[in-house]
Amino acid sequence: MNTQENRLNKIIDKIKKNGHRLTSQRIAIIKYLVESSNHPSADEIYSSIKKDYPATSLATIYKTISLLKSYNELLELEFSDKGSRFDGFSSSPHPHFICTRCSKIEDAEIETDSIVKQINEDAHFQIEYFKMNFYGICSQCRNIK
Ligand SMILES: [Zn+2]
Ligand SMILES: [Zn+2]
Repeated sequence: MNTQENRLNKIIDKIKKNGHRLTSQRIAIIKYLVESSNHPSADEIYSSIKKDYPATSLATIYKTISLLKSYNELLELEFSDKGSRFDGFSSSPHPHFICTRCSKIEDAEIETDSIVKQINEDAHFQIEYFKMNFYGICSQCRNIK
């Protein structure tokens, strides 16, 4: 079993234990989120799930998103101009690279543990979570002239 399968099973167990209804649609949405490392928008999730589950509504997508968020199993990246993107692949806070041309979002492999540790030790401030975004132009966009 790979990491994402483990993660999916863990989330499904949690939801069942709390007595929430799990339809096959809902499981498909959770599976999609857990397996997507490209930070999809709600519309992207919706159009992908609709292929297999035509009866799915955007409301079902949003309900599943808030359920996962309430379990701290989904990161929401909020943008005032373009709407939110979601990371169910990895739900612990991590930094992101965001392309200002094509809106691609990638996980930035930057070590943040020491920064968090330093703030917790130096400042009178206990960090619960953080949001760290780096904006620029992705390699794909730089190749296009
Ligand atoms: Zn780009
Ligand atoms: Zn991410």
